[in-house]
Amino acid sequence: MTASEIRALFSVASRPEVVSLAGGSPYVSALPMDAVAETLADLVARRGAVALQYATAQGDELLREQVCEVMAPEGIDGHPDDVVMTTGSQQALDLVTRIFVDPGDVVLAEAPSYVGALQVFRSYQADVVHVPMDDKGLEPVALEEAIQHLRAQGRQLAFLYTIPSFHNPAGTSQPESRREEVLEVCRRHDVLVIEDDPYGLLGFDGDPYRALRADDPEGVIYLGSFSKTFAPGLRVGWALAPHAVREKLVLASEATQLCPSSFSQLAVSSYLSTQDWRGQVDVYRDLYRQRRDATLEALTATMPEGTTWTHPLGGFYVWVTLPEGFDTRVMLPRAVTARVAFVPGSAFFADGSGARSMRLSYCLPEPARIREGVRRLAGVIEEELSM
Ligand code: PMP
Repeated sequence: MTASEIRALFSVASRPEVVSLAGGSPYVSALPMDAVAETLADLVARRGAVALQYATAQGDELLREQVCEVMAPEGIDGHPDDVVMTTGSQQALDLVTRIFVDPGDVVLAEAPSYVGALQVFRSYQADVVHVPMDDKGLEPVALEEAIQHLRAQGRQLAFLYTIPSFHNPAGTSQPESRREEVLEVCRRHDVLVIEDDPYGLLGFDGDPYRALRADDPEGVIYLGSFSKTFAPGLRVGWALAPHAVREKLVLASEATQLCPSSFSQLAVSSYLSTQDWRGQVDVYRDLYRQRRDATLEALTATMPEGTTWTHPLGGFYVWVTLPEGFDTRVMLPRAVTARVAFVPGSAFFADGSGARSMRLSYCLPEPARIREGVRRLAGVIEEELSM
């Protein structure tokens, strides 16, 4: 399928009769809309002349202080001076890539990796080299081998791009020992790490993981976002970077957009200071935990033998791998006809592999719809098996 075919398919998939396990949209209907409306109205009434004006490229100072508080539970001791606000973390990815990647440079990324990051890397003509993962995420031995191999070939390594917590699309998380190993390999080989962490506070059990950035402030650029903890429509994310890089990020942002949206930044800032944002994160966590449970129960109840899947401890996604011989890209139109949609695994690889896999997202549909969607999907798979 071409990009336009996929787009056409997804416009069918967005019809109400189709259960979409394809998108990654958070369940924003869980927000306290009246309280948010009040916050926004109050912002315009009190600070309209600031909120509706241009501002600095680095971002609002109070919000950058608040961002440091948001990152603290992950062990990050960041300084507001080193935070650069961006238009979603997607833009932070773009700015970082623009700074560090020349055409032909290698970007190391997990196999599979976030499709939006792969798009950015491709647009700057990076050569993405995938590093295998296991159920604990990125494999440090494979990472070291890849670095050694590429360096022996004289290749220029721009950075390692990794999503240590609640991975999109794999649904895996690196335990702390694994994080230490990954950092150790990168430090020893002097490889910069881009840590993408939009789901870090959305773990289902216990405290958040310790961020990679917490243990290596000079070797890691951390990307964060309010898209999953608050609302993606405001498009507010950030980068926390070593001092020298921060300066370049501000210049790159200025050239791209003059400044990130003042209104959105002040809206987030007011929300953080006037509403129980931590309580709202707990609401989201409970809701997604229930949806994760519904997904895993339905998979266990319906999937044919030989199908495997990951067991996410947070975030939005389950990675499902079908028996040998399946091609989920070819299967997708049949699934949509059966009124269920997913994203084929190959979308998450720069080299087109991942044919037997698919990403299911449980963030948006209600649990009953998820169960129905997985049941429909199992029906399609059974049908393919009997063909
Ligand atoms: N990184 C990852 C891993 C994501 O899943 C997403 C959103 N799907 C983003 C970055 C971008 O998020 P945003 O631009 O909304 O902050």
